[in-house]
Amino acid sequence: MIFQFQIDKQSGNARAGTLTTARGVIQTPIFMPVGTAGTVKALIQEELHECGAQIILGNTYHLYLRPGMEVIRQFSGLHRFMHWNGPILTDSGGFQIFSLAKISKTTEQGFDFQSHIDGSRHLITPEDAVDIQTIMGADIIMCLDSCIPWPADEHQAKDALELTTRWAVRCKTRWDAIPECRNSLFGIVQGGMFPHLREQSAEALTALDFPGYALGGLSVGEPKELMMETAAHSLPLLPDEKPKYIMGVGTPEDLVELVAMGADMFDCVMPTRNARNGQLFTSTGTVNINNARFKTDTDPVDPDCGCYACRHYSRAYLHHLYRSRELLSYRLNTIHNLHYYLHLMQTMRTAILNDAFDQFKSGFYARRAKD
Ligand SMILES: [Zn+2]
Repeated sequence: MIFQFQIDKQSGNARAGTLTTARGVIQTPIFMPVGTAGTVKALIQEELHECGAQIILGNTYHLYLRPGMEVIRQFSGLHRFMHWNGPILTDSGGFQIFSLAKISKTTEQGFDFQSHIDGSRHLITPEDAVDIQTIMGADIIMCLDSCIPWPADEHQAKDALELTTRWAVRCKTRWDAIPECRNSLFGIVQGGMFPHLREQSAEALTALDFPGYALGGLSVGEPKELMMETAAHSLPLLPDEKPKYIMGVGTPEDLVELVAMGADMFDCVMPTRNARNGQLFTSTGTVNINNARFKTDTDPVDPDCGCYACRHYSRAYLHHLYRSRELLSYRLNTIHNLHYYLHLMQTMRTAILNDAFDQFKSGFYARRAKD
C-alpha cells in the first residue's frame, strides 16, 4: 500500500502534514472540492488544478446509481472517466442514502434503499461499499456508516454508532483482503453530540488501526457551538499520527477553528453550491453578487484574490452575469470560491510551518469582519 502521513510542523494544535497516495502527494490542511456526480459542477479539471485542488471528492451513492458500475468499470475507474489524474476520495454512500434515498430498511446486513432517481431497489452492505469504491479506483475510501439526524436521543445515537462499529470491522476485513491494494480506508467516528458515545466510537475504531479517521455526523442541523464542542472533544481522541478528516464542514470560519483544533482534511459543497447561488467568499467577508450595490462596481470581487475571475472581471460583470442567469456566472463564481477556500488552506499551512497560526487567526478574523 502506498499511503503515508507525516506531520511536518505543529503550531499550537494546528498541524501541517504531507499525505502520500498512489496518485500524488497532498499537503495538509486540505480542502477537497466536492465532485458529486463525477464533476465539480461547472468546472473543467484544468480549472480545478488552477484553483489549487490537490484531491477531489466523489459521491459513491450518486455514481453507483448513475452512470452505474458497468460504465465506471469500462474506464477502469473514475479517474479516466472524468479526466482527473490526481487523488480522489469517495464517501461510502451512507450519508446520501440517509439524506436522499428512501430507506426501506437498515439491518445488520446493510442498507436496503430505493433510488431517488428512479425508485429502483438496492442493497448496499459494508463489503459492497468497499468493493464499489475500489472499482471506482478512489485513492481514499470510507467505511459504510449509519448516520442519524439531529436532534437524536442517546439510545438512537448509541445504536447507530454500534452498528457503524460492526460495519467498520466488516469493511476493514474486506479491505484487508484486497489483493495489490492501492487505496486506503478511513474509519468514521459517530456518536451524535454525546461526548461519551464519541469516545466509545473513537476507541473501537482506533483499535482497528485504520490508515485515517473521519468525524461523521457533524453539520447535520445542530447549533454551531455544539458542532464545535463535539469536534473539540472528538479530535484529540483520534491517533495523532493519522490524518483527521471532518466530513461535510463548513464555512471559512469553521475551517479556521477546526484546523486550530488539529483537523487535517475537509470537504463541503458550500463554496461550489453557494457560488451558483451568487454567494462569494472574500478575504473581507461574504458577499451576495446579486446585491444592487455591485451594479456599477469596477473592482474585482476580492482585490487580494489571484483567481482567474478576479484577474479578469469586475463585480459589475459578475453581477450582470448572475442577474442574467448566464452559464458563465456559475463557472466564474465557482472558480473564485474554490480558489478562496484552497488559498485559505495554503495560507493556514504556511502560518503553521512558520509557527504563527495564532497571528494568522487574529488577522483572518480582523479582515473577514470588515464587510
Ligand atoms: Zn477571485
